[in-house]
Amino acid sequence: MPPKVLVVGSANADLVVAVDRRPGGGETVLGADTVVLPGGKGANTAVAAAKLGASVALLGAVGDDQYGALLRESLRGAGVRAELVRTADRPTGIAYITVTPDGENSIVVSPGANAQVSSSDVDAAVEALRGARVLVCSLEVPVASVEHAVALAAEAGVRPLVNLSPVAELSARTLAALDPLVVNEHEAGWLLGEPDPADDAVTLAGRLLELGPRSVVITLGARGAVVATADGAHRVAAPSVRAVDTTGAGDAFAGALAVRLAEGDGLAEAAGYAARVAATSVTRNGAQPSYPSTDEVVA
Ligand code: AMP
Repeated sequence: MPPKVLVVGSANADLVVAVDRRPGGGETVLGADTVVLPGGKGANTAVAAAKLGASVALLGAVGDDQYGALLRESLRGAGVRAELVRTADRPTGIAYITVTPDGENSIVVSPGANAQVSSSDVDAAVEALRGARVLVCSLEVPVASVEHAVALAAEAGVRPLVNLSPVAELSARTLAALDPLVVNEHEAGWLLGEPDPADDAVTLAGRLLELGPRSVVITLGARGAVVATADGAHRVAAPSVRAVDTTGAGDAFAGALAVRLAEGDGLAEAAGYAARVAATSVTRNGAQPSYPSTDEVVA
């Protein structure tokens, strides 16, 4: 059976170290013990969707090393199908993350195996892709592979969702297929090039629609999200929660949105549910470990 949700994206080991302050150039600071966590935007999205009970596969790549084994184990534990996760001849992707006491992260990503996720990997997965209801992509893998996956999905009548994170330039053809394009405020600003600071998120969503996607979602952190289609834009509230750690909230949102769209929800309804899932995730530490099952999602 093909998965209902196919995720094309990265899998990284997150090496997290707490520091009192960040070192400047040429400087060394001592930090706390390193914590190793499964991460990467693709793996996070797939885990978030699978924890909600959906049938999900990840298309990606890891290295033949201890971090690749850790990532495969975390996917398995969450119920993500990993038969399309290739073992590449580069090391597993690593995110080097420092966290300061104010909770701010600085991150360097070494893509490693993720850089080898290719259009031929997408071609090799065409059956799974054609059988899925929703394709979800994020951009820690090569843009050309994402654009190829979106093109095949659109041809096959599979709904393509791209979470444009990190930001990357997409062709007009790819943008036109997206239903929805999902961005945060920063990514929206990048796409629109210096938007007027007076523009509110509803206006920005309307301007993003003019770039061609069939629908748009802008996530707004604690302020929820805005969804826009040709029929108009409206706001989706975020439940009020005590945020502990927002790492991976955007990936949780994308995974939950894909699950509900695959089940046939409308975009606004699906985004409302995704906001509840993402809000639940920010009340707990980490990315993947913070993702809820359906009965844990806050009201
Ligand atoms: P962001 O990537 O920061 O826009 O966050 C993605 C989604 O996570 C938002 O659209 C919200 O649904 C949720 N979220 C993030 N931060 C919070 C918060 N402090 N309280 C509630 N929900 C949040």
